[in-house]
Amino acid sequence: KTFEEAKLRDILMDNIKKSAYTVPTPIQKVSIPVISAGRDLMACAQTGSGKTAAFLLPILNHILDKGYELEIGKPQAIIMSPTRELAVQIFNEARKFAHNSYLKITIVYGGTSVKYQNESITKGCHILIATPGRLLDFVERTFITFEDTRFVVLDEADRMLDMGFSESMRKIITHPTMRKEHQTLMFSATFPEEIQRMAGEFLRDYVFVTI
Ligand code: AMP
Repeated sequence: KTFEEAKLRDILMDNIKKSAYTVPTPIQKVSIPVISAGRDLMACAQTGSGKTAAFLLPILNHILDKGYELEIGKPQAIIMSPTRELAVQIFNEARKFAHNSYLKITIVYGGTSVKYQNESITKGCHILIATPGRLLDFVERTFITFEDTRFVVLDEADRMLDMGFSESMRKIITHPTMRKEHQTLMFSATFPEEIQRMAGEFLRDYVFVTI
């Protein structure tokens, strides 16, 4: 399997080539078609497996394909990550793939001023990368709503549980503003009981992948 077979838009293919990715990693080979087909996904994959591109590429491709316009405070995709450092890594990879496109990508995380980060939110974004606590804070302050949210990604879900984000994640996924039709993609290095329960609760008819 090649990136060409994934039928991604030219702008993404150009950016993939520029980043010197020649062949998809195993998690990318499986996840990109599954996500592109509209299915929910539970993937057991470690850091270093290429899981970030595995969810970013089909999400970016879908938004570019549909040509969704920027709506202030209404992200098309939310990506939750346990720490600021991991969120920044996802943000950098997303910006690399979205280079030369109209897509707006924003990052928010705890431990810094809400006021400053709200300024980046008020400009609007298609894709919002966030730590769960800060994301919940923003939706509760009504800075954002999830009414246009088509993708919810829980990256390193097991670490988010370990860090005490269980309630924040639940409140976000079940938020009253959450768009009914959305895809949920869960990535976790381990698959303990609590993750299995979350997958059963939050994912619909999902594809399960272990790498
Ligand atoms: P991740 O597991 O998403 O944290 O990615 C681990 C590292 O692999 C990152 O530095 C990526 O830039 C890199 N990477 C991801 N996909 C590929 C690929 N298909 N070919 C080469 N490197 C990749």
